[in-house]
Amino acid sequence: MSEAQALPDTSHDSLIAQLQAILGTDHVITDEAERAYYSQDVYNQGPTVLAVIQPDTKEKLSKAIAAITGAGVAVYPRGGGFSYTDGYIPTTSNGVTVDTREMNRIIEINTEDMYITVESGCTWATIEEALKDKGVRPVFWGPFSGLNATVGGSMSQGSVTYGSSKHGPSGVAAEGMEIVTADGSIVTTGSAGQPGHSPFFRHYGPDLTGLFCNDAGALGIKAAVTLRLQRRLPVVMGLSYGFETFDGLHKGMAAAARDGLPTEAFGFDATVMKVFTGGQGLAQDLKTLFAVGMAGRNIFAGLWQMMKIAVAGKRFIDKAEYTAHFVCEARDMREMKSLLEAVRVAVDPHGNEIVNTVPAVVRAYPFPPFSLVGTSGERWLAMHGILPFSRVAEFKERIDALYERYAAKMEQHKIVKASMFTTIATNAFLYEPVFYWDDSRAAFIDRHTDPEILKKFTTFMPNEEGRKVVAEMKQGIIDCVYVCGGTHMQIGKAYPYTRERDAGALEMIKSLKAHVDPHGLMNPGALGL
Ligand SMILES: Cc1cc2nc3c(=O)[nH]c(=O)nc-3n(C[C@H](O)[C@H](O)[C@H](O)COP(=O)(O)OP(=O)(O)OC[C@H]3O[C@@H](n4cnc5c(N)ncnc54)[C@H](O)[C@@H]3O)c2cc1C
Repeated sequence: MSEAQALPDTSHDSLIAQLQAILGTDHVITDEAERAYYSQDVYNQGPTVLAVIQPDTKEKLSKAIAAITGAGVAVYPRGGGFSYTDGYIPTTSNGVTVDTREMNRIIEINTEDMYITVESGCTWATIEEALKDKGVRPVFWGPFSGLNATVGGSMSQGSVTYGSSKHGPSGVAAEGMEIVTADGSIVTTGSAGQPGHSPFFRHYGPDLTGLFCNDAGALGIKAAVTLRLQRRLPVVMGLSYGFETFDGLHKGMAAAARDGLPTEAFGFDATVMKVFTGGQGLAQDLKTLFAVGMAGRNIFAGLWQMMKIAVAGKRFIDKAEYTAHFVCEARDMREMKSLLEAVRVAVDPHGNEIVNTVPAVVRAYPFPPFSLVGTSGERWLAMHGILPFSRVAEFKERIDALYERYAAKMEQHKIVKASMFTTIATNAFLYEPVFYWDDSRAAFIDRHTDPEILKKFTTFMPNEEGRKVVAEMKQGIIDCVYVCGGTHMQIGKAYPYTRERDAGALEMIKSLKAHVDPHGLMNPGALGL
C-alpha cells in the first residue's frame, strides 16, 4: 500500500463542518499526524484520510455516516486498531475513519436471560471487569489483545482465544447486533428486530446476525452487539505439555480438541516461548506472579502456584521444541479430576507433561498490555490459516519448504520465524506463522508501547528489503493455506475470500454488498469487495 499523504482539500470543508455540527468539534480529528496514525495498523500504512470521527452514540454515528457517504466519501470502521490485515486501512485518501472507541458503554447485563448488550467500541477487558463478580461471562470472551481490541472489531474480523477451544470463534457469542449501513440506516438483527422483543436469541429464520460476523466491516458499522452469557465454572486448572516434534504437538492438540476437553488450548514453538518469557523485566515478572497468586483459589493455593512458577517456571522451555497448554474448567474437583485425566489420555501418547506455568499465568492475567514487537524492538507480523486436522501435516511441509527457499534471504535481512497454534471447537486447527525482523518501528507501535519499555528497544534502521521479503513470504503462506483447503478469520483486505469462490455464493455476497452499500463506500476493498 502506498504512503500517499493527503491534506484535506477545501472541497471537503463543508463535510468537515457538517461532521463537527453532528458530533461536536472534539470528535472530529483533522490534525495531519493524527490522521496518518489512524491510517496505519499494526503492520501496514495506507493513504491518510480526510478526517477521523469519534461518535459517542449510535444516533450520531448514523447521521455522520449518512453525511460522509452523501458527500461521496468512503468510510473506514476501526475498533481498537489491533489487527494487521489492512482491515481498516484506507484504500483512498478520500475517506473518513470511524473510531468507535467512544461508543464503549455496557447497555444491559441480564443474568436471568443470560445476555449482555454492549456498544461496539467496548473492549473485552471492560466486559471482563464488569462481569467478573457476577458469576457469568460471554461464551467467547476475547482475544489476547482484549485490553485494546473491541467487541465490534472482533466480531467484524473474527477472533479466537478465550472460550474458543470449547465453543468456537467470536461469532458464536453474538445473539444480535445493531448495524449502521452505508446510507446511515440502522438495522437490528436477532430477536430484538421485532417490537417489544429483547435481544436474547439469534436464530429465527435466516441468520442475519451471522451475515455481519467476519464481514471485515464491508457491510456496515456495528453500533451494538448482544453476547450470550454462560455461568463461570468455579474450578479452573491447566495442563502443559512439551513435544519433541511438531507432529507430536499437532496430534496431541487435535486429540484433546476432538474430545471437546479444553476451554482454551495454545501451542507455541520454542522461539515464541523465548520471546514471551525472555523479554520481560523483573517488574513485569513480579506483576505476573502477583496476579497469578491473587487468582489462586485461596491464598495458600496462590502461594503454592507462585512457588511452582518461581522454581520451575522458565526452565522447561529449553527442553521442548514445542509446548501446548490446556485450560480446563469444571463444576467441582471431582469433575476436574476426570477432565484432566481425559486430557492426559488424549495427549500423553504424543508428549510429556511439564509444569503448568503458562495456563496459570494466562488465566490470571488474560488481557495484558501486549508487546507489538520482538524483545529488542524488532518488527513483528503474524498470519494464520485455519485447517482441518487432516491437512495440518501437509501445511507444515509446505511452509517448511517455503522457509527453505527463503533461508538465505531471511538470514541476509535478519528475519526470524516462529509459530503459534490453537484449536477451535472440535474441528479446526489454527496455525499462526510469525515473523520478527530488524526494521524501524511505526508510530502505531510506539504509541502502544510503555515509554519505559520503549527506551530499552534498539532503534533499527528502515529495512525496506527485509519488509519486501516478509511481504513475499506472507503471500506464500496465504497460498499454502489456500492449497491445503484452509480458511482465515481476520480477512481484512489481505486474505483471498473471493478467490475461486463458488459462483452462486460470490454473486450472492456481491448482491448483498450492493444492497447495503450501493456506491461501494463502506470500507471499500474489505473482503475483496
Ligand atoms: C498483541 C496482539 C494479540 C492478538 N491476539 C489475538 C488473539 O488472541 N486472537 C485473535 O483472533 N486475534 C488476535 N489479535 C488480532 C486482533 O487484535 C484481534 O483479532 C481483535 O479482535 C481486533 O479487534 P480490534 O477492535 O482491534 O479491531 P480493528 O483492528 O480495529 O478492526 C478489525 C476489523 O474490523 C473492522 N471493524 C472494527 N470495528 C468495527 C465496527 N464497529 N463495525 C464494523 N467493522 C468494524 C475493521 O474495519 C477491520 O476490518 C492480536 C493482535 C495483537 C496485536
